[in-house]
Amino acid sequence: MENLTFKNGDKMPAIGLGTWKSDPGDVYNAVIAAIKSGYRHIDCAAIYGNEPEVGKALQQVFNDGIVKREELWITSKLWNNSHRQEEVLPALKKTLEDLQLEYVDLYLVHWPVALKNEVGLGFPDGADKFLSLDEVPLTETWKGMEQANQEGLAKHIGVSNFSKKKIQDLVKACTIKPEMNQVEMHPYLQQKELVSFCESEGIHMTAYSPLGSGDRPARSKKEDAPVLMEDKTIHSIAKKHGCSAAQVLISWAVNRGTAVIPKSVNPERIQQNIDSAKINLSEEDLQTIADLDKHYRFIDGAFWAMEDNSYTLESLWNE
Ligand code: NAP
Repeated sequence: MENLTFKNGDKMPAIGLGTWKSDPGDVYNAVIAAIKSGYRHIDCAAIYGNEPEVGKALQQVFNDGIVKREELWITSKLWNNSHRQEEVLPALKKTLEDLQLEYVDLYLVHWPVALKNEVGLGFPDGADKFLSLDEVPLTETWKGMEQANQEGLAKHIGVSNFSKKKIQDLVKACTIKPEMNQVEMHPYLQQKELVSFCESEGIHMTAYSPLGSGDRPARSKKEDAPVLMEDKTIHSIAKKHGCSAAQVLISWAVNRGTAVIPKSVNPERIQQNIDSAKINLSEEDLQTIADLDKHYRFIDGAFWAMEDNSYTLESLWNE
């Protein structure tokens, strides 16, 4: 298994298990199946509403002696309702309590969008539930993240859904540099400029929704959306290698030097996804996939751009 190596030598396994939309009833079995299949990296978030069940599964594998805490890489994310500096540590402590852990390996600012604390772990029902980035600047949120790191509750800190501009602004003002940017990435959204910028800054990247997030919620589904898992080119490369389309997509992400976190609650697909590590795409395959880019976002963030709030798609992605 490939790893991403951090500045202090810590290693994050390139393939992790995604847990968004994994129902509390399913995620317990999914995490145990994943760890038994060889996964050592689980991607979590408070907003996924299933961290207590992930925590129970982790306790189970520790108690059964399958794996030790220090052999796992656990990522979690700060929800948007806790962006004020003094809200970050309490949010992280709740996540740690739910996960039954003393620290996370990586803690990310989930979105560059601030909500009032009263929204809780959910989505706003009106423009009045947002806080603008003038009211709660990302640099303020980051101070709370730095504290989490300094107190040893998060071994590494980073961001998610951040543009080049937002990272540049953060880097200018921070004491501890972000070490990760987790964004949507797959052949239809290759993010070449962001990848090379992050590389030049020594910031690792994780590819989310690598399979095109077929089970994403209706709010993120457009009628004319392409279906990545049905792409003919990906299927023909898969046929050549005797593997599945999902395995080509995962192998492509690892090949680019990013981490990748396919979500599944199905034990066979969980196994299949980690087995992607064995697939070697050729230079020709990579060139063919490079040509598939359409800059298409399955998770376009339109749910943050409400009429009468201070967020627009342009201000979200800075493009
Ligand atoms: P995804 O991993 O691209 O796709 C998940 C879908 O693919 C599910 O329907 C899953 O169904 C199916 N699937 C999984 N493996 C398969 C295989 N081998 N063959 C066929 N179908 C397969 O979507 P995602 O959940 O949006 O993204 C992955 C993870 O990234 C999330 O779970 C989350 O951890 C993270 N994420 C982060 C953010 C962020 O803002 N930072 C946003 C989105 C996602 P089954 O479960 O039935 O197998």
